Amino acid sequence: MTADRRFADMLHHRAERLGRGDPVAPPLISATTFHLPGLENAAYKYGRMAMPTWEEVEEQLAILEGATVVGFPSGMAAIAAALMCTLSAGQTVILPADGYYTTRLLADRFLAPLGVKIRLIDTKDVDSADFTGASVVFLETPSNPGLDCCDISLAARKAHAAGARLIVDNTTMTALLQRPLDLGADLVVAADTKAPAGHSDVLYGHVSGRDAALMARIAEWRKLSGAVPGAFEAWLLHRGLETLEVRLARMCASAGILAERLSSHPRIKALRYPGLPSDPAHAIARRQMQGFGFLMSFELESEEKAEEFLTRSAYVTQTTSFGGTHSAGERRARWGDAVAPGFIRFSVGVEPVEPLWDAIEQALKPHAKG
Ligand SMILES: *Cc1c(COP(=O)(O)O)cnc(C)c1O
Repeated sequence: MTADRRFADMLHHRAERLGRGDPVAPPLISATTFHLPGLENAAYKYGRMAMPTWEEVEEQLAILEGATVVGFPSGMAAIAAALMCTLSAGQTVILPADGYYTTRLLADRFLAPLGVKIRLIDTKDVDSADFTGASVVFLETPSNPGLDCCDISLAARKAHAAGARLIVDNTTMTALLQRPLDLGADLVVAADTKAPAGHSDVLYGHVSGRDAALMARIAEWRKLSGAVPGAFEAWLLHRGLETLEVRLARMCASAGILAERLSSHPRIKALRYPGLPSDPAHAIARRQMQGFGFLMSFELESEEKAEEFLTRSAYVTQTTSFGGTHSAGERRARWGDAVAPGFIRFSVGVEPVEPLWDAIEQALKPHAKG
């Protein structure tokens, strides 16, 4: 099924259930308790077990993922669930050395003390890595913030041959631009906080997978740990998902244009965007992604010049997240990422591309001191 068809199905996911006079948009139901005279056939009992408004979102995401989906209150809650449900004492997890920093911290601070062994591999070395001895291989491709890519199908074959499960953090791509489950991954985790919610005002995450027993365990983890999404956040994410495809189309098209212009700008060094034919990740990105995304990274000559560029860019907000409607940039070294001081991760928003380019070009111009 093409992405376009999935998206049309997602928009109309409530149609079959609608009766005359029903609201077309899902109602926001924040009830924690439900009328329960006898337990038989009660769809809802208590809010920690299931809530109607999460289920609306899970239905949308299930159509996009082609899989069972369990929602969580943040991307990290989804990642924690996936790792807790697949690892036990004495086992080894392989994590990306250059991926989302908090995933490594979670493993260091909470999984290692429970007896889980941690191996770190750079994303660019995953294709040639040996997974022997691992129980879980966790990937992020393109990785955040370096934007290296690895081959998901190859990793799935190697992981399965080693008796390991493959988990892919698909946050930077979303289910519309990359389909790790189709490529053999056992679980996908994602922060819907980013492009899916898309307006920089919701924290949300999900786990998706096609192994019914494993997904039941993920759902049980949510119920027992209490890491449940809020109804209001679910309602906002439902609304955000309705425009995900049109936002992504604009963001990815603009990113392609900006990456090409920036890559030949004399002040920009080491630009990474998987869509550029010269990028080291381009070949694998073309094979396994349905678009090249809205994230790029580049370096300016120093910390000072990078900060100056960000301050002077009229349409670039300085925030620590990505995937929102506003273009956003930040110097990742300030969070301790292993990158150069002038390294900027740049998330392209939905601004029309020419005014955005004008603002960027203006901010890169040498200007008189004082
Ligand atoms: C943001 C992000 C997360 C965590 O998401 P939260 O909703 O902030 O918990 C996980 N992985 C990646 C790649 C991210 O960018």
